[in-house]
Amino acid sequence: MKSTPSSFPLKPYLLKHRFYPFREYLKEHFAHKVHKIPIHAGFTCPNRDGRVAVGGCTYCINESFSPNVKETFLPVREQIERGKEFHKKRYGAEKFIAYFQSFTNTYADIDTLKSCYEEALSDRDVVGISIGTRPDCITDDILSLIDGYTKRYHVWIEYGLQSIHDKTLRRINRGHDSRMFLDAVHRTKNTCINICVHVILGLPGETEEEMMETAQAVAGLGIQGIKLHHLYVAKNTALAEEYFQGKVKTLDMNAYIKLAVSFFRTYPI
Ligand code: SF4
Repeated sequence: MKSTPSSFPLKPYLLKHRFYPFREYLKEHFAHKVHKIPIHAGFTCPNRDGRVAVGGCTYCINESFSPNVKETFLPVREQIERGKEFHKKRYGAEKFIAYFQSFTNTYADIDTLKSCYEEALSDRDVVGISIGTRPDCITDDILSLIDGYTKRYHVWIEYGLQSIHDKTLRRINRGHDSRMFLDAVHRTKNTCINICVHVILGLPGETEEEMMETAQAVAGLGIQGIKLHHLYVAKNTALAEEYFQGKVKTLDMNAYIKLAVSFFRTYPI
């Protein structure tokens, strides 16, 4: 239900940020301090291995946003153990959400997926899972498997969208279009799984108006979360080549902050 100032007072973080930070959400939903542990379960991505395309999204280098990719590959259980130790010692976290972050975490047969997810969920301190994936990699069978965990656990799917504009998705070689994204979201909304959508501000060739169109499109979906990034250029990517050739520019901090503020203004509070 849409709230109004007269129906109940706005929480301080809404007055400050105009959005509901995930850490506040976790505080309000759990009696314990909950942190996400990033997991690299050994999957690859159809946009890199040739099934959809090769080379991947032009900005993609998983090492830049997924720390585990650089390390020797470890069983999921061991990654959870190490993650728990780190987050307990450093942040005082007590319970955990296993975040299947690296590459495309629904890109395998159903038995492999089940065994990976359940290896994480078998840890008594794991209260949920969050599964990062592409919108063209989610079958109804996979949705039904993941939905089955919602009875006992806190469950999210994180869909990479980045932009609602197909011309931009082609420009960054995403390998899917907005129609596939909308289809995945609508099918997921028939389940009890929480949905988070990833968006990038400052993608090549996008105007401010186009970025706000993405904001409006995502705001109208009735999903539970958004992860907003600014575009950054990582070494050894196709985007880096374009950047050094002067074909792509990045936002400075003030421009990004202004856009992020405008992005969240499209959302009612
Ligand atoms: S979908 Fe994700 S893992 Fe695959 S190429 Fe794009 S950013 Fe990389």
